[in-house]
Amino acid sequence: MAYDPAKIRNIGIAAHIDAGKTTTTERILFYTGRVHRYGEVHEGTTVTDWMEQERERGITITAAATYVAWHGHQINIIDTPGHVDFTIEVERSLRVLDAVIAVFCAVGGVQSQSETVWRQANRNRIPRICFINKMDRVGANFYGTVDEIRTRLKACPLVLQLPLGSESSFEGVIDLVTMEQVVWLDEAGIEFERGPIPVDLKNEAEEWRYKLIDEVSRYSETVLEEYLENRLTLETLKAGIRKAVLRDEVTPVLCGSAFKNKGVQTLLDAVIDYFPSPLDTPPAEGINPKSGEVVKRPCDPKGPLAALAFKIAVDQHTGKITYVRVYSGSISKGSLVHNVRLERKERVNAILIMHANKKEPADVLRAGELGALVGLKQTTTGDSLCGEKNQVLLERVYTPEPVVAIAIEPETNAEQEKLELALKRLAEEDPTFVAKFDEETNQTIVSGMGELHLEIIVDRLLREFGVKAYVGKPQVSYKESISTTAQHEEEYVRQIGSRGQFAKVSLQVGPAAKGAGLVFDHKPSTEVLPKEYLAAIKRGALGGLAVGVKWHYPVIDVAVTLLGAELHEVDSSPLTFEAAAGISVRDAMEKAEPVLMEPLMRIEIETPHQYVGDIIGDLNSRRGIIDAILPKAEDMDTIRGQVPLAEMFGYTTQLRSLSQGRASSIMEFQEYRQVPKQIADGMLL
Ligand code: GDP
Repeated sequence: MAYDPAKIRNIGIAAHIDAGKTTTTERILFYTGRVHRYGEVHEGTTVTDWMEQERERGITITAAATYVAWHGHQINIIDTPGHVDFTIEVERSLRVLDAVIAVFCAVGGVQSQSETVWRQANRNRIPRICFINKMDRVGANFYGTVDEIRTRLKACPLVLQLPLGSESSFEGVIDLVTMEQVVWLDEAGIEFERGPIPVDLKNEAEEWRYKLIDEVSRYSETVLEEYLENRLTLETLKAGIRKAVLRDEVTPVLCGSAFKNKGVQTLLDAVIDYFPSPLDTPPAEGINPKSGEVVKRPCDPKGPLAALAFKIAVDQHTGKITYVRVYSGSISKGSLVHNVRLERKERVNAILIMHANKKEPADVLRAGELGALVGLKQTTTGDSLCGEKNQVLLERVYTPEPVVAIAIEPETNAEQEKLELALKRLAEEDPTFVAKFDEETNQTIVSGMGELHLEIIVDRLLREFGVKAYVGKPQVSYKESISTTAQHEEEYVRQIGSRGQFAKVSLQVGPAAKGAGLVFDHKPSTEVLPKEYLAAIKRGALGGLAVGVKWHYPVIDVAVTLLGAELHEVDSSPLTFEAAAGISVRDAMEKAEPVLMEPLMRIEIETPHQYVGDIIGDLNSRRGIIDAILPKAEDMDTIRGQVPLAEMFGYTTQLRSLSQGRASSIMEFQEYRQVPKQIADGMLL
């Protein structure tokens, strides 16, 4: 398709689990001719949910980018996962999207996860369309859902369609913009017909059209004028709606049944008619890494290059692929792009346009487009790509700390190698987990963002990569630190064969600033102590802190200072100093009152007011601290607080039962905090 940014729509589809996001996406692919047969979620044959785990669980984990063509326009669809452990995926996708279709179940109405995504979209000021799906189901309530969009989401719904029939008699929609009925004729929903509105529904349709025009005329004087003069054209009305949507002031509401193949084509029409093209969205903002100045990059294929890598995936055949959104300028196949973080260039060997798990090669990717680059070796999620001359650092996508860990023990040595290779591949796709080998226990410890996150990783290791291993239960990633300053002098004297070994090291350890990690400093200058000896002491000291002395967890926030060193002309070597420093630092640590540190999480819970008391009581029993209870409109409250992660396993289920499924929570890492002494002592081996 010829490049025209005005004809691009970069959209996401978001929904509460089971509302029909996957089915709707599938139907979009089908009606736009991308696939020739639509898959069904319950048969496990859908195209976007292509990972085995997703098919089995019927949930969407990775954000697959897919493009489709509709009436001369290019729609790029980024699939957004719903679970909180994958918020990073949602954040990443929101970062590169221009608009979102929010799918609701006509029976369930507005559910908690839709509220969460709605808030994220509010924060990013992303225009939305609501698609009330499942109109064919018993209990479908279009008008009730519209009310909830108004009351629970605090949105201003702009009803553009009314359902034609409901439940088993649902046939199609009444289009309030054109004032026609649209009826789907065949079972596959390919054929549909526009016609006059049935007489018995005419009054209702007139009434809703009046509401529509009344609302839109607040944003468009032309609509008001033409309407009052009785000459309102279709073009003017559509332009008026578009204007209001682009300002994110109103949210068009449409309806249908993805499963019964009704209402999807009209939804696609609305995407084209009312959603912004990259030319309509505000310019991308970033910082000039040299001057620190704020720079703006409007969508212009001839402008300086500004692109954001928003996802890394590893494909069995192609290798590593980097999903990017180009905001300004163009990237051509074979060219070099400058990575601001790495301060170096990387070559783009190939460009791919993605269609779920299939790909089509392209020569160039221009402003406003989304695609995948092959050949970038070190670029990771959140990196900015630009030209070397006109550098811009776009805001990084937030990546949280991995705080839950799971131990994996391969059945044989050969499996260990396989495991390491598999972990390396997975790590390239997902920057939020960390894998480490623990020599003492012979286990590989994988840390991630949450229980479900680790569960999926483990599942992929065992199945996709065929690693045979024993897997432990998820555990909190504890750390160890110290609460006071202490010193130790170590005189290291050994005799190996005829050779003596000698080193004398005096070290001090003390608490360092929060988040400082491990810090090393030295008093003796390099004139007194040769550089290689100093390096050896640093290696020995920091190496000695890889595991703590009391609970055996990694040490954080400790400052080590070398106070003095003595060497022997013949018997000293860097190795003896390394060994001496290792012993010295551990002895000093023992004297410095070690403390156990645990991840403290920031939590935000949205709940109907009536459950606040129970939820707070429960948080208190989990050693939680409540920072604020903020009343929101209607009967909803937001509870903000801090809780130790160790107390939060299985919390989602508990919250659900405390609130009859109506409360939702988001938890993210805040900092490492000291575990109360009594609990820490109980955790000594
Ligand atoms: P997701 O979790 O939001 O991706 O939802 P899915 O697309 O996986 O749909 C969840 C379930 O609802 C599946 O069994 C679908 O077949 C079913 N479903 C989806 N859309 C409709 C619909 O319009 N009507 C009915 N009756 N069922 C639907």
